[in-house]
Amino acid sequence: MHDSSIAVLSSGSCGNSILVSSDETSLLVDAGISCKELERRLSLFGTDPSRIDAILLTHEHTDHNRGAQRFCRTHGVPLYGTEGTLALTPHDDAKRVTLSRRRAFEVGDVSVQPFPVMHLAADPVAYSLTIDEEKLSIASDLGCLTKGVVDEMTGATILMIEANYDDAMLRIGSYPSFLKKAILSDHGHLSNDGAGDLSIQAASDSLRDIVLLHLSKDNNRSDIARDTVSSRIDEAMPNVRVTPTEHGSHSGPFRLR
Ligand SMILES: [Zn+2]
Ligand SMILES: [Zn+2]
Repeated sequence: MHDSSIAVLSSGSCGNSILVSSDETSLLVDAGISCKELERRLSLFGTDPSRIDAILLTHEHTDHNRGAQRFCRTHGVPLYGTEGTLALTPHDDAKRVTLSRRRAFEVGDVSVQPFPVMHLAADPVAYSLTIDEEKLSIASDLGCLTKGVVDEMTGATILMIEANYDDAMLRIGSYPSFLKKAILSDHGHLSNDGAGDLSIQAASDSLRDIVLLHLSKDNNRSDIARDTVSSRIDEAMPNVRVTPTEHGSHSGPFRLR
């Protein structure tokens, strides 16, 4: 039986990266902090950079790919992404693997299922990763909920989902109206309420943990995000843990089994 763990190395507009480790394989979903910081945060979870087998990018925004080029070059790690994402990500001579937005593939003993999301980027995806029949779904920068996203995330043991903003905080906050509009749009980010909706719709008997990602420093607070999602799911799923991440901080590990 595998002992698989997941650690959030960083989350938020200052940089996103999640470490997923099985017995045999370690990979990063996004590498949006500097190479040096990736190395430092990996060490907090007892992982040597030489153990990383792949970096899977969700999209080309800097808060998701900032450290990818240097980390891949320094540690000889292949960089996975859709054609649109890789075209806009600096890569030197790092080995690149172009993935198709719906076709599953394997990295070691981890099965990876990419699926498209609506965020305003060239060709963004989210991922479900399955290790020894336990599924973890990671989706930040979601834009809005689609049936495809809900279907792909259903059945997960751990749901890691975006809870970018509290609706009231964003609306009364200091952001200029064009930015508010962009965040609120179907191609922007998902609110705490949206995270609650997704949690309810993608819930199954296997669900044990919901981890909230990409919280805005200005338009959200971790206690508000947690309470909003918890209040939505409490009645239906009293035993599911809801853990918010802090902007820019690491959290976990979360055990898949
Ligand atoms: Zn983005
Ligand atoms: Zn982002």
